[in-house]
Amino acid sequence: NREWHLLSRPVGWPKPEDFALVETPVPTPGEGQLLVRNKYLSVDPYMRGRMSAAKSYAAPYELGKVMQGGAVGEVIASNAEGIAAGDHVLHFFGWREHAVLDAQHAVKVDPDAAPLSTYLGVLGMTGLTAYAGLLRTASFKAGDIVFVSGAAGAVGSQVGQLAKLLGASRVIGSAGSDDKVKLLVEEYGFDAAFNYKNGPVAEQLREAAPDGIDVYFDNVGGDHLEAAVGALREGGRIAVCGMISVYNNTEPAPGPRNLARLIQTRGRIEGFLVGDHYDLQPEFVQKVGPWVASGELKYRETVVEGIENTLEAFLGVLRGDNVGKMIVKL
Ligand code: NDP
Repeated sequence: NREWHLLSRPVGWPKPEDFALVETPVPTPGEGQLLVRNKYLSVDPYMRGRMSAAKSYAAPYELGKVMQGGAVGEVIASNAEGIAAGDHVLHFFGWREHAVLDAQHAVKVDPDAAPLSTYLGVLGMTGLTAYAGLLRTASFKAGDIVFVSGAAGAVGSQVGQLAKLLGASRVIGSAGSDDKVKLLVEEYGFDAAFNYKNGPVAEQLREAAPDGIDVYFDNVGGDHLEAAVGALREGGRIAVCGMISVYNNTEPAPGPRNLARLIQTRGRIEGFLVGDHYDLQPEFVQKVGPWVASGELKYRETVVEGIENTLEAFLGVLRGDNVGKMIVKL
């Protein structure tokens, strides 16, 4: 069994020396437990936060111990009722080849209903994040003009397409390469998109959304957030999902300079955590599952192979190497 340990807390961009791929014996399941061979691991931006000691919504990873994360695997031994060897389960013991876990921490998934990797992405945590953030936190309604950053990523690409499917009058996305921008407009049906590396975000947003925006789904923070505040129409809503542009900062970044605009627009900014919205999971699967199956909602995955490449895959997410959900296939 090989598993990734955190050796030291990264300062700024994580370095390979902060981590080690460690060989350990395959663990043995106790009473009520499962032994799972992981097939797909999730690497996600929030993991950067768990590598730090700073107080956050998820406990810091412990130094010298295996890290955690979403994973889907096959049960190879079960001492629990209701789950048998051969079943596939979604669980939270990623960053390793084999996991032993209490059966109550595993959710059975059906490999015939959808590709296993999608339970980590378009039909999983990132999909629900898009759904809950758009519909609940941003109070999206048909006719809204929606702007989403990180729009070619797992959450962002789903936000933009959901907004279109649910009747947005205009959807604008930003992403970090011209190829990603092309994908947004030509395949995902965004009405406009821009590469934030090609010029100031505020100017590019003004061009793409000349009438302003009703909803901003923030994955990025920084200049993007300030530009969105500036473009907000009356009664506009900003859902703060993530701020990936600051995750590797060693000093706090300055906030938007134009917050006073919220007074005249009666604008609202609200953060959310997907973990608070699992009550929406059945509705999400019922509504979005068929759109994924029919191809009306498209998704991409960037698949990196091999446990030894998990760290690189994680760093790739921070760099923007991925289109759609970043997945590690074992
Ligand atoms: P993505 O698939 O979107 O991958 C991250 C992307 O961020 C990269 O592909 C990169 O794309 C972009 N990026 C990296 N650095 C910057 C930067 N400095 N400025 C702008 N874009 C940058 O990841 P997810 O879909 O998993 O997550 C998206 C966001 O949602 C993250 O902020 C994450 O923390 C947050 N999140 C929040 C949850 C919650 O419960 N609140 C749950 C899940 C995710 P590009 O090439 O475009 O730069």
